[in-house]
Amino acid sequence: MIASRKLVIALTLSFVGASGIPTTTAAQGAKLQPADTIIINGNVHTINHKQAWAHAVAIRGEKIVAVGDNAEIEKLRGPGTKLIDAGGKLVLPGFVDCHIHFLEGSISLGQANLEGSKNPGDIQRILRAYAEKHPGDGWILGAGWNYAMFGEENLPNKKYLDELFSERPVFLVGYDGHTSWANSKALALAGINKDTPDPPNGAIVRDPKTGEATGALKESASSLVGNLVPKLARAEKIAALRAGMRWANENGLTRVHSAGGDFEEFDLYDELRREGDLTLRMYIAYFLDPPELRPKDLAAIEEARKKYSGDWLSAGVVKMMIDGVVESHTAAMLEPYTDDPSTKGKLFWDAGKYKSAVAELDKRGLQLFTHAIGDYAVRTALDAYENAEKVNHTKDRRPRIEHIETVSSVDIPRFGKLGVIASMQPLHAYPDEDTLRVWAGNNGPDRASRAWVWNSIAKAGGHLAFGSDWNVVTLNPWEGLQMAVTRQTTEDKPEGGWLPQERITLAQAVEGYTLGAAYAGRREKTEGSIEPGKLADLVIVSQNIFDIDPHEIAKTKVIKTIVGGRVVYQAGAK
Ligand SMILES: [Zn+2]
Repeated sequence: MIASRKLVIALTLSFVGASGIPTTTAAQGAKLQPADTIIINGNVHTINHKQAWAHAVAIRGEKIVAVGDNAEIEKLRGPGTKLIDAGGKLVLPGFVDCHIHFLEGSISLGQANLEGSKNPGDIQRILRAYAEKHPGDGWILGAGWNYAMFGEENLPNKKYLDELFSERPVFLVGYDGHTSWANSKALALAGINKDTPDPPNGAIVRDPKTGEATGALKESASSLVGNLVPKLARAEKIAALRAGMRWANENGLTRVHSAGGDFEEFDLYDELRREGDLTLRMYIAYFLDPPELRPKDLAAIEEARKKYSGDWLSAGVVKMMIDGVVESHTAAMLEPYTDDPSTKGKLFWDAGKYKSAVAELDKRGLQLFTHAIGDYAVRTALDAYENAEKVNHTKDRRPRIEHIETVSSVDIPRFGKLGVIASMQPLHAYPDEDTLRVWAGNNGPDRASRAWVWNSIAKAGGHLAFGSDWNVVTLNPWEGLQMAVTRQTTEDKPEGGWLPQERITLAQAVEGYTLGAAYAGRREKTEGSIEPGKLADLVIVSQNIFDIDPHEIAKTKVIKTIVGGRVVYQAGAK
């Protein structure tokens, strides 16, 4: 598979091979000055179409200076050069998570993890163990429960929590972050009773007979309890971020695009950067709330853009959320929900105000991330982006739509046509009971036939960018890759994959986490592939994912993660 023979560029005389053509790609000025680090004996998949495979890489400072075969790269080895022998393992560009809530995820590492629970009994077991490890009367916090485990109702109930905790407040966020679950103690602390009105864009779920709150809190109603959770001190947040970065690096991530919850904490990230302790590159969006774009939003966005523009930490992107999620009927649809024809969901923004906010932000050269899950929300975002390009006469702005869980067939080709990036999270399509029964049931068969249409968007010329939405699901991109190519659960269900026509190739999926992700963050000139001149962000992994049964991809382990030429994760090291 190694095809480093017919190469591009390289201009440095020293690399001209016997045939007279250069055999190694090297950046200008690489010369024979020794490298700081060389990686040899690798199976290097570069994602550089001009030199798809190589054996070795040379790094100087933060950048890659040459990519080629072992002998060529060995020439750059000096007395002070650090040697990494990849032992024949697969080397890939560092992975990017294009949609993450990093601080929140980092904090969740210290809370009860409910992911993978199948029923309320599982949850109770996890919480009991958690409470034993964290005794006292403090809050019990956790995340990761799913809707399907509650049977018909598809919503949690405080009774399961009250059975265990009558005096300790419990607050558990659902796996998608859109619905929360509180016990009676937490509801009482929040002063929620029969007469408490629903907040805008939220609902306190109530027992139809008694009118009492059931403990399920949808969308903004979550904050009624969530706001009471004691805030972490600065040092605690920094500690959480360090743990989060370690976890991200361990999974092979070298950059993340934050889609909310981190902008307010720029200062913490900057402190880590100044101390040389950032091991993950951060692109952080300002979260713009409805009802409209205000001067104070613009001031905050512009100030951050000026202050943070480096390779490690940057702003200049705005996230807007125009609808909710399918499971709680808050995603905005063109037609009524199949299981509840009384509602189509609704936009969180007035469509006109959203459109003018998009146009103003686009005019300033800012990038846009719009959360849109229902087909009406997706269309609204495409319309607003199309309008912005027209009124501003702008090109190549790469606005993004985040999630796109279902989409009208007439809108699929618009991604490619308008240059709108489809930022999707493969594990959101995980075809378990929650997806196949609740999600698909709410949508009905027609809409559900256009669930997470990765392949259709790509075939019509659209760019894909992949991520996790951590801590909605794990940030492990290897599980995401397996999902993208199989559309099956880890038990290989359903047979042949759910909507198999929407599977993509492994090469496409890897690109969605690397070069495609860099493109989606406007950084493809400096990141996303292993080529001279680009930042030395790469991973060495345990198995050649291109050479195995796709159902084994999720088992991939990262051996080393390198960011900016520095080894930030090493398997087995403490
Ligand atoms: Zn998100």
